[in-house]
Amino acid sequence: MTLSPYFAVGNLQRQLRAALRMRKATGWRHFGAWLRSNAIRSVPVSAGAIGMGCIGFGRHAVWEVTEACNLRCRHCHATSSSAGPNELTTEEGKRFLDQLAAMPEFRMLAFSGGEPLVRKDIDELLAHSTRRGLVNVIATNGTLIDDARARELRKLGVRGIAVGFDSTDPEIHNAIRRSPTAFDRALRGIQSCKAAGMVVQINYTAMRENLATLPDVIRFCHDIRADIMLCYQLVPMGRGSSIVASALTAEDNQQLVQTIRTLQRDAITIVEPVAAPQYWAHLLDRDDTTAKPEEPSDTFHGCAAGWGLMYVKPDGHVWPCPFIPISGGSVRDRTLSDIWQRSEIFLSLRDRSKLKGTCGSCENRNICGGCRGKAYATCGDPLAEDPCCYLHHRGLPAYQQEFTSGHEQPARLPVLDSPALQL
Ligand code: SF4
Ligand code: SF4
Repeated sequence: MTLSPYFAVGNLQRQLRAALRMRKATGWRHFGAWLRSNAIRSVPVSAGAIGMGCIGFGRHAVWEVTEACNLRCRHCHATSSSAGPNELTTEEGKRFLDQLAAMPEFRMLAFSGGEPLVRKDIDELLAHSTRRGLVNVIATNGTLIDDARARELRKLGVRGIAVGFDSTDPEIHNAIRRSPTAFDRALRGIQSCKAAGMVVQINYTAMRENLATLPDVIRFCHDIRADIMLCYQLVPMGRGSSIVASALTAEDNQQLVQTIRTLQRDAITIVEPVAAPQYWAHLLDRDDTTAKPEEPSDTFHGCAAGWGLMYVKPDGHVWPCPFIPISGGSVRDRTLSDIWQRSEIFLSLRDRSKLKGTCGSCENRNICGGCRGKAYATCGDPLAEDPCCYLHHRGLPAYQQEFTSGHEQPARLPVLDSPALQL
Protein backbone atom coordinates (compact mmCIF):
# COMPACT_ATOMS: atom_id res chain seq x y z
CA MET A 1 0.00 0.00 0.00
CA THR A 2 1.23 3.51 -0.78
CA LEU A 3 1.37 5.48 2.44
CA SER A 4 2.90 8.71 1.31
CA PRO A 5 -0.29 10.50 0.13
CA TYR A 6 -1.85 9.97 3.57
CA PHE A 7 1.16 11.22 5.43
CA ALA A 8 1.58 14.22 3.15
CA VAL A 9 2.18 17.39 5.14
CA GLY A 10 -1.04 19.10 4.01
CA ASN A 11 -3.16 16.09 4.97
CA LEU A 12 -1.60 15.85 8.41
CA GLN A 13 -1.91 19.58 8.99
CA ARG A 14 -5.62 19.56 8.17
CA GLN A 15 -6.28 16.66 10.51
CA LEU A 16 -4.23 18.12 13.31
CA ARG A 17 -5.96 21.47 12.93
CA ALA A 18 -9.36 19.77 13.19
CA ALA A 19 -8.30 17.84 16.31
CA LEU A 20 -6.90 20.99 17.93
CA ARG A 21 -10.04 22.93 17.19
CA MET A 22 -12.12 20.15 18.68
CA ARG A 23 -9.90 20.13 21.77
CA LYS A 24 -10.37 23.85 22.22
CA ALA A 25 -14.13 23.61 21.83
CA THR A 26 -14.66 20.66 24.16
CA GLY A 27 -11.77 20.87 26.61
CA TRP A 28 -10.76 17.43 25.33
CA ARG A 29 -8.52 16.14 28.13
CA HIS A 30 -7.27 13.10 26.23
CA PHE A 31 -5.87 14.96 23.25
CA GLY A 32 -2.27 14.09 24.22
CA ALA A 33 -3.09 10.44 24.79
CA TRP A 34 -5.02 10.35 21.53
CA LEU A 35 -2.02 11.78 19.67
CA ARG A 36 0.24 9.09 21.11
CA SER A 37 -2.01 6.07 20.76
CA ASN A 38 -4.58 6.73 18.01
CA ALA A 39 -3.47 9.50 15.73
CA ILE A 40 -0.92 7.74 13.52
CA ARG A 41 -3.09 4.64 13.07
CA SER A 42 -6.03 6.85 12.13
CA VAL A 43 -4.27 8.77 9.39
CA PRO A 44 -4.81 6.26 6.54
CA VAL A 45 -8.45 5.72 7.54
CA SER A 46 -9.07 9.45 7.34
CA ALA A 47 -7.00 9.76 4.19
CA GLY A 48 -7.82 12.78 2.11
CA ALA A 49 -9.74 14.42 4.94
CA ILE A 50 -10.35 18.09 4.42
CA GLY A 51 -11.78 18.68 7.87
CA MET A 52 -14.52 17.42 10.15
CA GLY A 53 -18.16 17.07 9.31
CA CYS A 54 -21.01 14.61 9.24
CA ILE A 55 -20.30 10.89 8.73
CA GLY A 56 -16.65 10.96 9.63
CA PHE A 57 -13.89 12.60 7.71
CA GLY A 58 -14.69 13.85 4.25
CA ARG A 59 -13.91 13.03 1.61
CA HIS A 60 -14.64 9.37 1.36
CA ALA A 61 -16.83 6.96 -0.57
CA VAL A 62 -19.20 4.34 0.77
CA TRP A 63 -20.24 1.37 -1.33
CA GLU A 64 -23.35 -0.50 -0.19
CA VAL A 65 -22.16 -3.75 -1.76
CA THR A 66 -25.37 -5.68 -1.15
CA GLU A 67 -28.85 -5.46 0.31
CA ALA A 68 -28.42 -8.92 1.79
CA CYS A 69 -28.03 -9.14 5.54
CA ASN A 70 -28.02 -11.80 8.23
CA LEU A 71 -29.97 -9.47 10.57
CA ARG A 72 -33.19 -7.45 10.22
CA CYS A 73 -32.47 -4.38 12.35
CA ARG A 74 -35.45 -2.14 13.04
CA HIS A 75 -33.71 1.12 12.17
CA CYS A 76 -31.95 0.04 8.97
CA HIS A 77 -31.91 2.80 6.35
CA ALA A 78 -31.97 0.06 3.70
CA THR A 79 -34.58 -2.65 3.33
CA SER A 80 -31.82 -5.19 3.78
CA SER A 81 -32.80 -8.84 3.68
CA SER A 82 -31.79 -10.70 0.53
CA ALA A 83 -29.60 -9.51 -2.32
CA GLY A 84 -31.25 -7.15 -4.78
CA PRO A 85 -31.92 -8.32 -8.34
CA ASN A 86 -29.68 -5.76 -9.98
CA GLU A 87 -26.57 -5.52 -7.83
CA LEU A 88 -23.23 -4.74 -9.44
CA THR A 89 -21.43 -7.91 -10.49
CA THR A 90 -17.89 -8.66 -9.41
CA GLU A 91 -16.49 -7.27 -12.66
CA GLU A 92 -18.68 -4.16 -12.51
CA GLY A 93 -17.60 -3.68 -8.91
CA LYS A 94 -13.94 -3.87 -9.90
CA ARG A 95 -14.49 -1.30 -12.63
CA PHE A 96 -16.09 1.00 -10.07
CA LEU A 97 -13.08 0.50 -7.77
CA ASP A 98 -10.72 1.33 -10.66
CA GLN A 99 -12.62 4.56 -11.28
CA LEU A 100 -12.64 5.52 -7.64
CA ALA A 101 -8.92 4.87 -7.28
CA ALA A 102 -8.31 7.18 -10.24
CA MET A 103 -9.92 10.09 -8.36
CA PRO A 104 -7.19 11.59 -6.17
CA GLU A 105 -9.65 13.32 -3.83
CA PHE A 106 -10.96 9.91 -2.69
CA ARG A 107 -8.53 7.61 -0.87
CA MET A 108 -10.78 5.80 1.57
CA LEU A 109 -13.68 3.47 0.78
CA ALA A 110 -16.12 2.03 3.29
CA PHE A 111 -17.76 -1.25 2.27
CA SER A 112 -21.28 -1.23 3.67
CA GLY A 113 -24.60 -3.04 3.27
CA GLY A 114 -26.92 -4.80 4.18
CA GLU A 115 -24.09 -6.78 5.68
CA PRO A 116 -21.05 -6.55 3.39
CA LEU A 117 -19.51 -9.73 4.76
CA VAL A 118 -22.35 -11.90 3.40
CA ARG A 119 -21.44 -10.96 -0.17
CA LYS A 120 -19.64 -14.01 -1.57
CA ASP A 121 -17.01 -12.10 -3.55
CA ILE A 122 -16.23 -9.58 -0.79
CA ASP A 123 -12.66 -10.82 -0.30
CA GLU A 124 -11.97 -10.50 -4.03
CA LEU A 125 -13.34 -6.95 -4.03
CA LEU A 126 -11.36 -5.95 -0.93
CA ALA A 127 -8.15 -7.32 -2.45
CA HIS A 128 -8.81 -5.45 -5.68
CA SER A 129 -9.46 -2.22 -3.82
CA THR A 130 -6.22 -2.62 -1.85
CA ARG A 131 -4.25 -3.30 -5.03
CA ARG A 132 -5.58 -0.04 -6.43
CA GLY A 133 -4.24 1.85 -3.40
CA LEU A 134 -7.51 2.52 -1.59
CA VAL A 135 -7.84 2.26 2.19
CA ASN A 136 -10.59 -0.21 3.06
CA VAL A 137 -13.02 0.17 5.93
CA ILE A 138 -15.92 -2.22 6.58
CA ALA A 139 -19.20 -1.08 8.12
CA THR A 140 -20.72 -4.20 9.63
CA ASN A 141 -22.99 -5.52 12.33
CA GLY A 142 -19.90 -7.36 13.58
CA THR A 143 -21.65 -10.68 14.07
CA LEU A 144 -19.70 -12.60 11.43
CA ILE A 145 -16.21 -11.68 12.63
CA ASP A 146 -14.07 -13.81 14.91
CA ASP A 147 -10.30 -13.73 15.46
CA ALA A 148 -9.49 -15.71 12.32
CA ARG A 149 -11.79 -13.65 10.10
CA ALA A 150 -10.42 -10.40 11.51
CA ARG A 151 -6.88 -11.47 10.66
CA GLU A 152 -8.01 -12.43 7.13
CA LEU A 153 -9.66 -9.05 6.64
CA ARG A 154 -6.57 -7.26 7.89
CA LYS A 155 -4.49 -9.16 5.32
CA LEU A 156 -6.95 -8.07 2.63
CA GLY A 157 -6.15 -4.44 3.44
CA VAL A 158 -8.98 -3.62 5.83
CA ARG A 159 -7.59 -0.84 8.03
CA GLY A 160 -10.74 0.07 9.92
CA ILE A 161 -13.97 -1.52 11.07
CA ALA A 162 -17.21 0.27 11.95
CA VAL A 163 -19.49 -1.91 14.09
CA GLY A 164 -23.15 -1.13 14.77
CA PHE A 165 -23.71 -0.96 18.54
CA ASP A 166 -27.00 0.40 19.82
CA SER A 167 -26.75 0.01 23.58
CA THR A 168 -24.53 -1.34 26.33
CA ASP A 169 -27.66 -3.17 27.49
CA PRO A 170 -27.72 -6.48 25.58
CA GLU A 171 -31.52 -6.63 25.74
CA ILE A 172 -31.95 -3.27 24.04
CA HIS A 173 -29.31 -3.98 21.39
CA ASN A 174 -30.74 -7.42 20.66
CA ALA A 175 -34.31 -6.08 20.50
CA ILE A 176 -33.30 -3.42 17.98
CA ARG A 177 -31.20 -5.92 16.02
CA ARG A 178 -33.90 -8.61 16.36
CA SER A 179 -31.43 -11.32 17.30
CA PRO A 180 -30.85 -12.80 20.77
CA THR A 181 -27.14 -13.22 20.08
CA ALA A 182 -26.38 -10.01 18.17
CA PHE A 183 -24.84 -8.23 21.19
CA ASP A 184 -22.42 -10.98 22.16
CA ARG A 185 -21.35 -11.56 18.57
CA ALA A 186 -20.84 -7.82 17.94
CA LEU A 187 -18.63 -7.61 21.06
CA ARG A 188 -16.61 -10.56 19.83
CA GLY A 189 -16.20 -8.86 16.45
CA ILE A 190 -15.02 -5.62 18.06
CA GLN A 191 -12.46 -7.42 20.21
CA SER A 192 -11.19 -9.48 17.27
CA CYS A 193 -10.74 -6.42 15.07
CA LYS A 194 -8.89 -4.58 17.83
CA ALA A 195 -6.62 -7.58 18.29
CA ALA A 196 -5.95 -7.60 14.54
CA GLY A 197 -4.77 -4.00 14.73
CA MET A 198 -7.65 -2.25 12.98
CA VAL A 199 -8.97 1.20 13.73
CA VAL A 200 -12.25 0.57 15.55
CA GLN A 201 -15.30 2.74 15.04
CA ILE A 202 -18.57 2.26 16.91
CA ASN A 203 -21.75 3.21 15.06
CA TYR A 204 -24.63 3.98 17.41
CA THR A 205 -28.09 4.93 16.18
CA ALA A 206 -30.06 7.14 18.57
CA MET A 207 -33.82 6.57 18.77
CA ARG A 208 -36.44 7.11 21.44
CA GLU A 209 -35.90 3.56 22.64
CA ASN A 210 -32.19 3.86 23.36
CA LEU A 211 -31.47 7.60 23.60
CA ALA A 212 -31.01 7.44 27.36
CA THR A 213 -28.17 4.97 26.86
CA LEU A 214 -26.02 7.44 24.86
CA PRO A 215 -23.76 8.34 27.83
CA ASP A 216 -23.21 4.65 28.54
CA VAL A 217 -22.24 3.98 24.93
CA ILE A 218 -19.74 6.86 24.95
CA ARG A 219 -18.33 5.53 28.22
CA PHE A 220 -18.07 2.07 26.63
CA CYS A 221 -16.20 3.53 23.64
CA HIS A 222 -13.76 5.24 26.00
CA ASP A 223 -13.24 2.08 28.05
CA ILE A 224 -12.42 -0.10 25.03
CA ARG A 225 -10.30 2.73 23.53
CA ALA A 226 -12.42 2.86 20.36
CA ASP A 227 -10.93 5.34 17.91
CA ILE A 228 -14.16 6.90 16.67
CA MET A 229 -17.84 6.81 17.62
CA LEU A 230 -20.40 7.99 15.12
CA CYS A 231 -23.70 8.83 16.79
CA TYR A 232 -26.28 8.31 14.04
CA GLN A 233 -29.92 9.02 14.59
CA LEU A 234 -32.94 7.57 12.91
CA VAL A 235 -33.76 9.24 9.61
CA PRO A 236 -36.92 7.56 8.36
CA MET A 237 -35.84 5.60 5.31
CA GLY A 238 -35.83 1.96 4.26
CA ARG A 239 -37.02 -0.28 7.09
CA GLY A 240 -36.56 2.68 9.44
CA SER A 241 -39.48 4.45 7.73
CA SER A 242 -41.85 2.04 9.50
CA ILE A 243 -40.78 3.35 12.94
CA VAL A 244 -40.98 7.08 12.27
CA ALA A 245 -42.33 7.65 15.77
CA SER A 246 -38.92 6.58 17.12
CA ALA A 247 -37.15 9.52 15.47
CA LEU A 248 -35.78 12.31 17.68
CA THR A 249 -37.44 15.66 18.17
CA ALA A 250 -35.62 18.98 17.81
CA GLU A 251 -35.23 19.11 21.61
CA ASP A 252 -33.80 15.58 21.65
CA ASN A 253 -31.41 16.67 18.94
CA GLN A 254 -30.26 19.59 21.07
CA GLN A 255 -29.68 17.39 24.10
CA LEU A 256 -27.82 14.91 21.96
CA VAL A 257 -25.30 17.45 20.66
CA GLN A 258 -24.86 19.02 24.10
CA THR A 259 -24.29 15.61 25.66
CA ILE A 260 -21.71 14.64 23.06
CA ARG A 261 -19.78 17.87 23.59
CA THR A 262 -19.89 17.47 27.36
CA LEU A 263 -18.72 13.87 27.31
CA GLN A 264 -16.07 14.47 24.65
CA ARG A 265 -14.07 16.32 27.32
CA ASP A 266 -13.35 13.05 29.15
CA ALA A 267 -13.46 10.49 26.32
CA ILE A 268 -10.40 9.47 24.33
CA THR A 269 -12.70 8.33 21.52
CA ILE A 270 -13.57 11.03 18.98
CA VAL A 271 -17.37 11.24 19.07
CA GLU A 272 -19.26 12.81 16.19
CA PRO A 273 -22.98 13.05 15.56
CA VAL A 274 -24.46 12.05 12.20
CA ALA A 275 -27.54 13.85 10.88
CA ALA A 276 -27.07 16.57 13.52
CA PRO A 277 -24.77 19.08 11.77
CA GLN A 278 -25.78 21.71 14.32
CA TYR A 279 -23.00 20.15 16.42
CA TRP A 280 -20.34 22.11 14.57
CA ALA A 281 -22.11 25.39 15.32
CA HIS A 282 -22.54 24.25 18.92
CA LEU A 283 -18.80 23.60 19.25
CA LEU A 284 -18.16 27.19 18.23
CA ASP A 285 -20.84 28.50 20.61
CA ARG A 286 -22.92 29.72 17.70
CA ASP A 287 -26.21 28.04 18.56
CA ASP A 288 -28.12 30.99 19.82
CA THR A 289 -30.17 33.30 17.69
CA THR A 290 -28.19 36.52 18.18
CA ALA A 291 -26.95 37.97 14.90
CA LYS A 292 -23.32 37.16 14.12
CA PRO A 293 -21.07 37.16 11.06
CA GLU A 294 -21.11 34.16 8.74
CA GLU A 295 -18.53 31.53 9.76
CA PRO A 296 -16.24 30.21 7.00
CA SER A 297 -15.91 26.42 6.74
CA ASP A 298 -12.14 26.09 6.95
CA THR A 299 -12.22 23.12 9.36
CA PHE A 300 -15.81 22.27 10.26
CA HIS A 301 -18.09 21.57 7.31
CA GLY A 302 -21.29 20.19 8.83
CA CYS A 303 -23.46 18.25 6.41
CA ALA A 304 -21.24 16.18 4.10
CA ALA A 305 -23.78 15.80 1.30
CA GLY A 306 -22.42 17.11 -1.97
CA TRP A 307 -18.83 17.77 -0.94
CA GLY A 308 -17.64 15.05 1.41
CA LEU A 309 -19.32 11.82 0.50
CA MET A 310 -20.33 9.58 -2.37
CA TYR A 311 -22.74 6.80 -1.46
CA VAL A 312 -22.92 4.05 -4.07
CA LYS A 313 -25.99 1.85 -3.94
CA PRO A 314 -25.88 -1.88 -4.75
CA ASP A 315 -27.22 -1.23 -8.27
CA GLY A 316 -24.53 1.37 -8.99
CA HIS A 317 -26.57 4.53 -8.46
CA VAL A 318 -24.63 7.24 -6.66
CA TRP A 319 -26.33 9.24 -3.90
CA PRO A 320 -24.87 12.18 -1.99
CA CYS A 321 -25.64 10.53 1.38
CA PRO A 322 -27.36 7.31 2.53
CA PHE A 323 -30.28 9.49 3.69
CA ILE A 324 -30.82 11.36 0.40
CA PRO A 325 -32.34 8.92 -2.10
CA ILE A 326 -31.58 11.03 -5.16
CA SER A 327 -29.26 9.56 -7.75
CA GLY A 328 -26.58 11.58 -9.51
CA GLY A 329 -26.39 8.75 -12.06
CA SER A 330 -25.31 5.14 -12.21
CA VAL A 331 -21.73 3.94 -12.60
CA ARG A 332 -23.17 1.65 -15.27
CA ASP A 333 -24.01 4.68 -17.43
CA ARG A 334 -21.63 7.48 -16.40
CA THR A 335 -18.13 7.65 -15.05
CA LEU A 336 -17.85 8.16 -11.33
CA SER A 337 -15.82 11.30 -11.87
CA ASP A 338 -18.52 12.73 -14.15
CA ILE A 339 -21.21 12.02 -11.54
CA TRP A 340 -19.13 13.67 -8.81
CA GLN A 341 -18.20 16.73 -10.85
CA ARG A 342 -21.29 17.37 -12.94
CA SER A 343 -24.44 15.73 -11.65
CA GLU A 344 -27.13 18.17 -10.66
CA ILE A 345 -27.76 16.87 -7.16
CA PHE A 346 -24.09 16.99 -6.16
CA LEU A 347 -23.62 20.47 -7.64
CA SER A 348 -26.70 21.93 -5.96
CA LEU A 349 -25.86 20.47 -2.52
CA ARG A 350 -22.29 21.79 -2.84
CA ASP A 351 -23.59 25.33 -3.18
CA ARG A 352 -24.98 26.37 0.21
CA SER A 353 -26.28 29.64 -1.17
CA LYS A 354 -29.04 27.45 -2.66
CA LEU A 355 -30.35 26.39 0.76
CA LYS A 356 -33.88 27.52 1.57
CA GLY A 357 -35.85 28.66 4.59
CA THR A 358 -34.04 29.15 7.89
CA CYS A 359 -30.96 27.30 6.62
CA GLY A 360 -30.75 29.60 3.60
CA SER A 361 -30.51 32.74 5.72
CA CYS A 362 -28.48 31.23 8.60
CA GLU A 363 -24.99 32.49 9.52
CA ASN A 364 -24.08 28.87 10.32
CA ARG A 365 -24.88 27.46 6.91
CA ASN A 366 -21.19 26.94 5.98
CA ILE A 367 -20.31 25.03 9.14
CA CYS A 368 -23.68 23.31 9.59
CA GLY A 369 -25.86 23.43 6.51
CA GLY A 370 -28.69 21.45 8.10
CA CYS A 371 -29.36 17.76 7.53
CA ARG A 372 -30.37 17.52 3.91
CA GLY A 373 -31.71 14.00 4.50
CA LYS A 374 -34.17 15.21 7.13
CA ALA A 375 -35.16 18.10 4.89
CA TYR A 376 -35.88 15.63 2.10
CA ALA A 377 -37.80 13.30 4.44
CA THR A 378 -39.93 16.23 5.57
CA CYS A 379 -40.91 17.88 2.33
CA GLY A 380 -39.21 16.07 -0.56
CA ASP A 381 -36.76 18.91 -1.16
CA PRO A 382 -33.12 18.28 -0.18
CA LEU A 383 -32.47 22.04 -0.12
CA ALA A 384 -35.27 22.86 2.34
CA GLU A 385 -34.64 23.83 5.97
CA ASP A 386 -33.72 21.21 8.54
CA PRO A 387 -36.85 20.39 10.61
CA CYS A 388 -34.73 19.28 13.60
CA CYS A 389 -32.74 22.51 13.97
CA TYR A 390 -33.34 23.49 17.57
CA LEU A 391 -32.39 27.10 16.83
CA HIS A 392 -35.56 27.56 14.84
CA HIS A 393 -37.88 24.64 15.49
CA ARG A 394 -39.44 22.96 18.48
CA GLY A 395 -41.25 19.69 18.76
CA LEU A 396 -41.62 17.02 16.14
CA PRO A 397 -40.45 17.18 12.55
CA ALA A 398 -43.37 17.08 10.14
CA TYR A 399 -42.66 13.53 8.99
CA GLN A 400 -43.18 12.39 12.58
CA GLN A 401 -46.29 14.27 13.64
CA GLU A 402 -48.88 12.10 11.98
CA PHE A 403 -47.40 8.93 13.49
CA THR A 404 -47.01 9.99 17.10
CA SER A 405 -50.47 10.33 18.54
CA GLY A 406 -50.95 7.65 21.16
CA HIS A 407 -47.22 6.91 21.47
CA GLU A 408 -45.19 7.44 24.60
CA GLN A 409 -42.99 10.47 24.96
CA PRO A 410 -39.36 9.93 23.96
CA ALA A 411 -36.91 8.63 26.49
CA ARG A 412 -34.94 11.59 27.79
CA LEU A 413 -31.24 11.94 28.30
CA PRO A 414 -30.05 12.52 31.84
CA VAL A 415 -29.74 16.22 32.61
CA LEU A 416 -26.38 17.61 31.68
CA ASP A 417 -25.14 18.31 35.18
CA SER A 418 -25.94 14.80 36.31
CA PRO A 419 -23.06 12.81 37.83
CA ALA A 420 -23.98 10.17 35.25
CA LEU A 421 -22.28 12.34 32.66
CA GLN A 422 -18.85 12.06 34.28
CA LEU A 423 -16.85 9.36 32.55
S1 SF4 B 1 -30.83 27.00 10.38
FE1 SF4 B 1 -29.93 25.31 9.17
S2 SF4 B 1 -27.77 25.94 8.87
FE2 SF4 B 1 -28.58 27.18 10.55
S3 SF4 B 1 -28.00 26.09 12.42
FE3 SF4 B 1 -30.11 25.47 11.83
S4 SF4 B 1 -29.81 23.60 10.61
FE4 SF4 B 1 -27.82 24.66 10.70
S1 SF4 C 1 -27.79 14.74 4.81
FE1 SF4 C 1 -27.77 14.52 7.04
S2 SF4 C 1 -26.86 12.50 7.40
FE2 SF4 C 1 -26.36 13.10 5.28
S3 SF4 C 1 -24.35 14.09 5.40
FE3 SF4 C 1 -25.90 15.70 5.60
S4 SF4 C 1 -26.23 15.97 7.80
FE4 SF4 C 1 -25.18 14.02 7.48
